Amino acid sequence: MDYSKILDTIQLKLKNHIPTGKVATYIPELAKIPGDKLGMHLYCINSGHYNFGDAHERFSIQSISKVFSLTLAMNTIGNDVFKRVDVEPSGNPFNSLIQLEYENGIPRNPFINAGALLIADILVSHLKNPKQELLQFIRTISGIDSITSNSTVASSEKKHSNRNAALLHLMKSFGNIENDIDKVLDLYVFQCAIEMSCQELAQAFMLYANEGVSIQNQQQIIAKRTVKRINAIMQTCGFYDEAGEFSFRVGLPGKSGVGGGIVAIHPNQYSTAVWSPKLNPKGNSELGMMALEELTTLTGLSIF
Ligand code: GLN
Repeated sequence: MDYSKILDTIQLKLKNHIPTGKVATYIPELAKIPGDKLGMHLYCINSGHYNFGDAHERFSIQSISKVFSLTLAMNTIGNDVFKRVDVEPSGNPFNSLIQLEYENGIPRNPFINAGALLIADILVSHLKNPKQELLQFIRTISGIDSITSNSTVASSEKKHSNRNAALLHLMKSFGNIENDIDKVLDLYVFQCAIEMSCQELAQAFMLYANEGVSIQNQQQIIAKRTVKRINAIMQTCGFYDEAGEFSFRVGLPGKSGVGGGIVAIHPNQYSTAVWSPKLNPKGNSELGMMALEELTTLTGLSIF
């Protein structure tokens, strides 16, 4: 497969498309990011790295961090995670409160905000220093020690987090949050404000493409069964109320964030990350979706 040529074709196609989407502004720090940033990185198990554009520039990973925090929670308390959060697609926006009320404070899945806040509560309960341990986990799986969280972005989000606080209060009223709400929110905004480039994300997500085995040293870092389950949740819940559309157009497990990043993996083939900050109305990167759709079209490969 000529992946360099495929990425050239994708880059050209994206350059010729004028996005109608908008950069996220509800977190004021994110509104400052130039909307025309565009990068993509593809990391193939057999043939290594390919990229274009701003693939080496770090950006706010936002909800992509929900995959890392779920993995850490599953590594810490195993399947008990799923006593408190479900694994069903929500069909609702990422920050919706509606289902939580009639489903008794049990979030639909770990990738909507309610679910990720609940996972943050688990990490606060079970880890001595959850922020550092989460960061260390990401550094280990990506092999990049300089990855860090941007405190300006975190405090910008914290100041505008009434809705996330409301989700936590509602879950707490049902007895499904154990810790102080401010402490949980603090971890949540910290993880969302972690900054990584497309290349760094592709390196971290290689583990999910490679059955939990590090391709650097062949060590099993995450159990194969855990990886299969997380990939299944990415497939069904990674794009909120656009998860069906992403499966339909791209056909890979993936996860998006309001920083404009999208990661996707093809089990036993590759991991990939795209960054373009302009979001469609569902909060997913407009050009990112297009790039990944082109990738699976041009390679003729998807998991289906
Ligand atoms: N930090 C963001 C929020 O809670 C993450 C949302 C996202 O990336 N979809 O609103």
